[in-house]
Amino acid sequence: MTESKAPRRAERLVGVKGMNDILPPESARWESLEASVRELMRCYAYENIRTPIVEPTALFVRGLGEVTDIVEKEMYSFDDRLNGEALTLRPENTAGVVRAVVEHSLLYNGAKRLYYMGPMFRHERPQRGRYRQFHQVGAEALGFPGGEVDAELILMAHALWQKLGLEDVALQLNSLGQPDERGLHRQALIAHFEQHMDALDAEAKRRLHLNPLRLLDSKNPAMQPVIESAPRLIDFLGTQSMAHLNTVTSILDANGVAYAINPRLVRGMDYYNLTVFEFVTTRLGAQGTICAGGRYDYLTEQVGGRPAPAVGWALGVERVLELLKAQESQETARAVDVYAIIADASGFAKAMVCLQTLRSLGLSVLMHASASEGLAGIKAQFKRADSSGARFALVFGPDELAQDRVTVKALRDASVAQVSRLISETREWGIGLQSGS
Ligand code: ATP
Ligand code: MG
Repeated sequence: MTESKAPRRAERLVGVKGMNDILPPESARWESLEASVRELMRCYAYENIRTPIVEPTALFVRGLGEVTDIVEKEMYSFDDRLNGEALTLRPENTAGVVRAVVEHSLLYNGAKRLYYMGPMFRHERPQRGRYRQFHQVGAEALGFPGGEVDAELILMAHALWQKLGLEDVALQLNSLGQPDERGLHRQALIAHFEQHMDALDAEAKRRLHLNPLRLLDSKNPAMQPVIESAPRLIDFLGTQSMAHLNTVTSILDANGVAYAINPRLVRGMDYYNLTVFEFVTTRLGAQGTICAGGRYDYLTEQVGGRPAPAVGWALGVERVLELLKAQESQETARAVDVYAIIADASGFAKAMVCLQTLRSLGLSVLMHASASEGLAGIKAQFKRADSSGARFALVFGPDELAQDRVTVKALRDASVAQVSRLISETREWGIGLQSGS
């Protein structure tokens, strides 16, 4: 212990690698996107669902598939030492939503349309557009077997890009068919890759007999030729699966939404069947997929529920925001309405009664509080009021306060004369500050 010396400053702690703080003014963009999403979901009648960030590890192992990138190497899993449970920070939220829907029998009185937003966790190499804590908005429609709901979800995402003014987003579409069709394709796929063993990397060789479809999702450039020449699942589809795909594409056609059929599109989780899709941009480098989803008709059974067809998507919030930023199409954060200038500390009691009333009217009010260097003079406070972008300054000077009054000065409109108001009548004149004048 050091006796009389000032305490040593402790070593500075920093956040976890790949997990970012979201600070102002950047956080205003997040709030704005979240507001757009809520409004979108209201228009499509999707209801909000909130599930825990931690789930039993078994949910993801069973739901996503044992031989997937996420389950094999990206999950933050740990034992809860206090009761010996195997838990995982959610790497995605479809499995969690399905778990909750089954657990609470949400489909007992019909199908459900749900959405969520929140953080996901994957142990990946942090880089542009790829983080260890990232955020998704997701939409899930459960209990609907028809392709029209696949189309509704795609139209909804498309509408969001339009609402946000996002450019250069292309839609890729594919069908993964049904388990029996995939079984036939699987055999053909294994036969194909077995003839090209020298072209496979170690991981591909290991996965070949466990989960050959995963090979098609490989990002290894050296393997692209052998992937390109592999048998296409779409060629193994029967009439029903093709009809499902046609339902989706005909609705997209009718709505003028462009798409490309990409027979190599498989997605990273095993739970998909029939429709799968991705929205991709060329503007974010390798991390160009901003939204992805598809149908997962067998996942409810996989987590122990009754069979229920379902379809959904998830979008990467960081990537969407980065794309927006690249376009600079978002307006800057909204300025405050009112900046309160307070001459000295004895004025706070009266002034803050007035400010509370203004806030109850919905006005955004920024008070000049005493900072560690003391209260600034009136002139300096006026400067800050001006740079805050506020439309009005309220001056609580000694003369004003002696008469229980406040001076209201328009900062953005020189033609408006300043006026003196009674604090006791704040509600009455405060209404006048709401709109503009
Ligand atoms: P990728 O092929 O880029 O690894 P993925 O197929 O693993 O993506 P999904 O699990 O389908 O991604 O998640 C949906 C969306 O979430 C992605 O399209 C992407 O926008 C976003 N996303 C996924 N992983 C990350 C991450 N580590 N950091 C930031 N965003 C991510
Ligand atoms: Mg991934």
